[in-house]
Amino acid sequence: MKIILIGPPGVGKGTQGLLLADKIGIPVISTGQVIRDVIRSGSKGSDKLKSIVSSGELVPDILMVEILEARLLSDDCNKGYILDGFPRTLAQAETLLNKGIDIDYVVEFNLHKDEIVKRLSGRLYHPSSGRIYHKDFNPPKHPLLDDVTGEALVVRDDDKPEAIIKRLQLFDDQTSPLLQFYQSRTDQLNLKYIALDASGSVDEIQSELLQFLT
Ligand code: AMP
Repeated sequence: MKIILIGPPGVGKGTQGLLLADKIGIPVISTGQVIRDVIRSGSKGSDKLKSIVSSGELVPDILMVEILEARLLSDDCNKGYILDGFPRTLAQAETLLNKGIDIDYVVEFNLHKDEIVKRLSGRLYHPSSGRIYHKDFNPPKHPLLDDVTGEALVVRDDDKPEAIIKRLQLFDDQTSPLLQFYQSRTDQLNLKYIALDASGSVDEIQSELLQFLT
């Protein structure tokens, strides 16, 4: 089973993707997390990636596809995967088609912009797992510490105000055309499409998602 989660930053794709992966036993591939892992590894080219991501810009398509393809070769992807944050441009969606990667489900997450800004502004992040908290709406059990490992939580550079504005603008310009792209091709691509209201609770959205997939 291959699932794509699409929506602006801060709508809860990451949280829902991790929960879903646990329930249905396929990995969630957050391309943002894959890139942050590359940056943390300090490998060649990671400084350049860091400056792109911190400013809220998109990683160039060619590089992004290369990084994703390497990840999809892992054994854990044999039974399928959940893509969180890919594709983000029409060129990336075309690449999936050209490579014969058949998507079964596309999930669109919708949330009012004011709510997105509120959510992103108080967000806390656990670097090694990608777990996300919010200082008011989903606080960790102990302030600024991850619930599972007890390690420190951080504020991502791209959750700072200027980068948030840039990321939302890029979603509107580059990513939102994908909604129409998939919605208008459900028969041709033999996929199921759902648009979710992401303002509900984590549990409500998760159960809606599970219902859609069964
Ligand atoms: P995310 O964690 O999904 O918000 O992604 C964080 C950042 O990683 C984005 O703002 C981009 O800089 C980069 N990124 C993640 N996925 C993609 C993608 N599919 N195409 C281009 N850049 C991406």
